[in-house]
Amino acid sequence: MLTLITPQGKRRVVAKGARKTTSRLAGHIELFTHATMLLAVGRNLDIVTQSVILHSFDNLRGDLNRIGAAYYAAELIDRLIEEEDENRPAFELLITTLAVLDTTRNIDLALRSYELRLLGYLGYRPQLYHCAGCQEVLTEETNRFSPVAGGALCPRCAATERTTMPMTLSAFKLLRFLQAQPAEAIERLHISPETRDDVEKLLRVYIRRILERDLKSVAFLEELSNTRT
Ligand SMILES: [Zn+2]
Repeated sequence: MLTLITPQGKRRVVAKGARKTTSRLAGHIELFTHATMLLAVGRNLDIVTQSVILHSFDNLRGDLNRIGAAYYAAELIDRLIEEEDENRPAFELLITTLAVLDTTRNIDLALRSYELRLLGYLGYRPQLYHCAGCQEVLTEETNRFSPVAGGALCPRCAATERTTMPMTLSAFKLLRFLQAQPAEAIERLHISPETRDDVEKLLRVYIRRILERDLKSVAFLEELSNTRT
């Protein structure tokens, strides 16, 4: 059984014999690849009858950090989109992100960029330019983020909202940059580990609030980063 992310939404399908080396599908179905598939209508689930890989993102598979990030990217979109939820921008973002994860030196920033864009395409775009409370234009004085309100708060709203998180100016700037720029722009960035951690934490709490739980791959990514430090 496989979950496919397609431009027409998510599909649960069956790929018979994909793991048998004698099967016609052997080697043509792999996780985290971009493929064209022919599906036959089945009684419950559709069945993959042919598959041609378009992009296999080969570096991903040789690197635990990259494969962990790809797993997270796949799990996040799987949880956020529904079966018949047609969303071409989200699909294209996933393909671009797998390509970036295949080569980038900034794996974590690639994920942050992906999170911000994906949330935007699915109606959960965090507000970073106007206060999530009163809609006033935000200035550099902004230093609180509210997962409940759905974005950054001006100092006045932050004083009355109880569920806010502190946000440094560098974290605020990085969030805005990642939301506004295409994924490839992360290659030019030099960001301190503290700011990367701050942004990761803010988005994790915000995403947890939307999904109402943590993703399985988050624990795996955390274990990887603990073994690094
Ligand atoms: Zn406000």
